[in-house]
Amino acid sequence: MDSYNNLSTEIKSLIKEKNIDHEVYGKSYLGEDLHAFHKGSYHGKQLLITASMHAREYISCKVVLNLIKEYNFTTGCYFIPLVNPDGVRIVLEGINFIDDCGLKNLLYRINNNSQDFSLWKANARGVDLNVNFNAMWGESKFTSFFPSSSGYVGEYPNSEIENKNLLNFIQNKNFYMSIAYHSKGNVVYYGFEKLNKKEIKNAKKIAKDIAKPLKYKIIQSKGSTGGLSDYLSYSLKIPSFTIELGSDKLKHPIKLSEIDIIYKNQYKMLKNIIKKYGAL
Ligand SMILES: [Zn+2]
Repeated sequence: MDSYNNLSTEIKSLIKEKNIDHEVYGKSYLGEDLHAFHKGSYHGKQLLITASMHAREYISCKVVLNLIKEYNFTTGCYFIPLVNPDGVRIVLEGINFIDDCGLKNLLYRINNNSQDFSLWKANARGVDLNVNFNAMWGESKFTSFFPSSSGYVGEYPNSEIENKNLLNFIQNKNFYMSIAYHSKGNVVYYGFEKLNKKEIKNAKKIAKDIAKPLKYKIIQSKGSTGGLSDYLSYSLKIPSFTIELGSDKLKHPIKLSEIDIIYKNQYKMLKNIIKKYGAL
């Protein structure tokens, strides 16, 4: 059975690897370490790869752990395999590990008085991290304004400690591209709607290059607000893409036993992207 313990054990074993740089860039709401790994040169522009911002999409964490192990390029890359550790732990263990009874009761109520948290997407405060960034924050029609297993934008943009820490980490680094792994649908999303025509055209070109080896479709992300890719592409002008891993036929959460099919061609995709854009 999938377990949070197995994912953290794998992260801990990577920390010990001599050829992989590691730093803790902060703590989650429940005090878990937020891990960033780096491989390749620090010289020149870098690639950013993030995963598991949505809790039930923890298969994406495993994809990034595999990429960290395989990565052997000169161009530098930062990997953040587990943006939302509290959420992933809630999906895999439920809420009994949480000491704070008030918080436990709140999460239980938010989850419609159910102990089954397997479809949870938010963090441990019921905020959906991927609508909490400062990019048309709260403007989507799917937005929720109260704590929820998904879709709650939070009290204000970047209200969540996981997002604040992530943005602090990103600041002052020079990225040529960002890839955010989610699940599911076999789709590459590109082109936040506020971007200008030239930026969208450029993003579409890169999205095609990402999608080709994966045999995924590409979709312009209309109606998306407050996402990491939205914010990075619009405010920081980093071409940013959201990759939705896995066929829609699979059920959430996609089990780690599916990793071979899900991981297929991810490395090839990365290799192509680095070859084409990594030397900029
Ligand atoms: Zn997602």
